[in-house]
Amino acid sequence: MSAETVVKKEAPKHADRIGYPLVGQELTVGGVPISRLAARVGSTPFFAYDRELMTARVKRLRAALPKDVHLHYAMKANPMPAVVQHMAGLVDGLDVASAGEMHVALDTGTRPETISFAGPGKTPQELSQAVAAGIIINMESFTEMETIARLGKDIGVIPKVAIRVNPDFELKTSGMKMGGGPKQFGVDAELVPQMLTRVGELGLDFYGFHIFSGSQNLRVDALLEAQEKTINLAIELSKHAPRPPRLVNIGGGFGIPYFPGEQHLDLEAVGEGLEALMPRARAELAGAEIVIELGRYLVGEAGVYVSRVVDRKESRGTVYLITDGGLHHQLSASGNFGQVIRKNYPVAIGNKMGLPEAEESNIVGCLCTPLDRLGDKVGLPRGDIGDLVVVFQSGAYGRSSSPTAFLGHPAPAEVLI
Ligand SMILES: *Cc1c(COP(=O)(O)O)cnc(C)c1O
Repeated sequence: MSAETVVKKEAPKHADRIGYPLVGQELTVGGVPISRLAARVGSTPFFAYDRELMTARVKRLRAALPKDVHLHYAMKANPMPAVVQHMAGLVDGLDVASAGEMHVALDTGTRPETISFAGPGKTPQELSQAVAAGIIINMESFTEMETIARLGKDIGVIPKVAIRVNPDFELKTSGMKMGGGPKQFGVDAELVPQMLTRVGELGLDFYGFHIFSGSQNLRVDALLEAQEKTINLAIELSKHAPRPPRLVNIGGGFGIPYFPGEQHLDLEAVGEGLEALMPRARAELAGAEIVIELGRYLVGEAGVYVSRVVDRKESRGTVYLITDGGLHHQLSASGNFGQVIRKNYPVAIGNKMGLPEAEESNIVGCLCTPLDRLGDKVGLPRGDIGDLVVVFQSGAYGRSSSPTAFLGHPAPAEVLI
């Protein structure tokens, strides 16, 4: 065997962390050392979000994307009212997915015409609230369209609508595909011309199209391919519209690195690629705002989930750090109830940063299920009772998308710093 063949391949690493500078051995969030922050919050576990990181992210997007592309925040990623308020001051619009989210969005003072409402099962009650509020409803079916028209008459308001299109392509290599083939989302692209005729007959106030094909994508080529197809589809469909579209939401899907080996999205390359598509969009969709809607890319890296070690146990040679947190708060970091191959989010002991690795630890939560894991075999300094375990990449799809009622522990606190 030659010398080369015995060189061990290095295990893939997590991508570099953005933000959270250290002060001594303490990780800081929004400038506050983690131990002091825990004291300030008064209880663990908690989620802490850094407003400066959100601001910086939007600034970077603005610099990278074409100047006339509008940026919306999809608030289901993190619906904490203080976060939504902060984001509302940075972006051009908000995307909501329920009447509950709509109320939070309206409370921020965001103009209703810049709020859009998508979701496959909107109830007549929710639709009527949305019509009355004057937000743009992304219609997901013919049935929904007829209901909206009827409600508009009842309330005496002309509903503002866009059509959510289920495209005839998908966003390749996406964490979650939301378009292409049969889907519960949107109206199949081939049926949209027929729907547009009916929009005209019903006298609805037509704004444009919403074409969202997927989520959590880290590949520039896949994103650009979907953006190009999306713009082409919007151009094609607009020929059938009762009036030229004022709004074309081309989706988003920008991902963030969660697992070892994943790299940060090359945002500048996405921006350049999109710029190259814009001349055609500007010419053929003149008068339409091109909107990109993002959730996790705006807030996901701006938040951490912090829990405290309540027990340290060694079981047959394996170290367990047992925390007061777990999958009931941060489901996705646990592996979503038994992901086939569980991978770790980046984790650290926030009050022992910079100390050398001393052992391989298994970080688990306090629930009575072996699925409640926050980190498998993580190289860490020695963890002890009272230490603060930090799970990064927790600013999106954390508390609000976790089963907080599972096992009856209290819900985690949330702070925006
Ligand atoms: C969930 C969702 C988003 C946000 O997705 P992210 O991956 O958080 O960016 C955007 N638009 C629609 C229609 C969605 O359903």
